Amino acid sequence: MKGAHRIAPPSSALRGRVVVAAVAVGAFAAAAAGQTIQAASSGGASAADDVAPPLAGVRQAAASMGSGGDTGGTTAAPELLTLSKETDGSAEVQKIATAQRLTEARNARAAQLKAKQEEAARPKFVQPAVGTFTSGFGARWGVTHYGIDIANRIGTPIVSVADGTVIEAGTASGFGLWVRVQHEDGTVSVYGHVNDYVVREGQQVKAGQLIAHIGNRGQSTGPHLHFEIWDTSGRKMNPLPWLAARGISF
Ligand SMILES: [Zn+2]
Repeated sequence: MKGAHRIAPPSSALRGRVVVAAVAVGAFAAAAAGQTIQAASSGGASAADDVAPPLAGVRQAAASMGSGGDTGGTTAAPELLTLSKETDGSAEVQKIATAQRLTEARNARAAQLKAKQEEAARPKFVQPAVGTFTSGFGARWGVTHYGIDIANRIGTPIVSVADGTVIEAGTASGFGLWVRVQHEDGTVSVYGHVNDYVVREGQQVKAGQLIAHIGNRGQSTGPHLHFEIWDTSGRKMNPLPWLAARGISF
């Protein structure tokens, strides 16, 4: 412990090799091994001295790399460059992939939010057809008129008043052709005298979705939509208060 516990710095050439070895192996243990050989060759080193010098070796190796000079020539520098290039390259690819994933996730969230906002904003109840209100629900010409009439040209669009399922699209006595849509609460909307329909039984429809066109089929005195609302037991209700309660008025 009194003797040569201060180790002479290794030669420039040795330090160069130490740095190359450290970089190539990727561990400063190599530098420590190199330093141990140096310590042994200087003689008189105790076991305790063998422990200390590796730290000095590490410091020297680090100093050599930090300065960029005195590394024994051109051998070390290209190796360092090559290694750092490969590392940076794959890190860059990783960064781009991560950025792409983040962008995709952000876009997906934006699309989800937009769909949610559109769903919230879309009307849940709409007027079944544009036209002139020509007849209400109730007694008419000695019989009961079980719906309302909206007159317009043949071919005028008829839309479903609410979300629902088409339970019938076809011929009907008196109506010529009709479409019936059942809604979530069991209520059924009926569209009569239609010229043609564009939905089929079992089809899901949204409020405002085109289902048919105004016609003059069946017992009809002119082109119009005959519109009914049936409650869950099939009883025909006055459509006007039903529509009014849902924000639709004529
Ligand atoms: Zn009618």
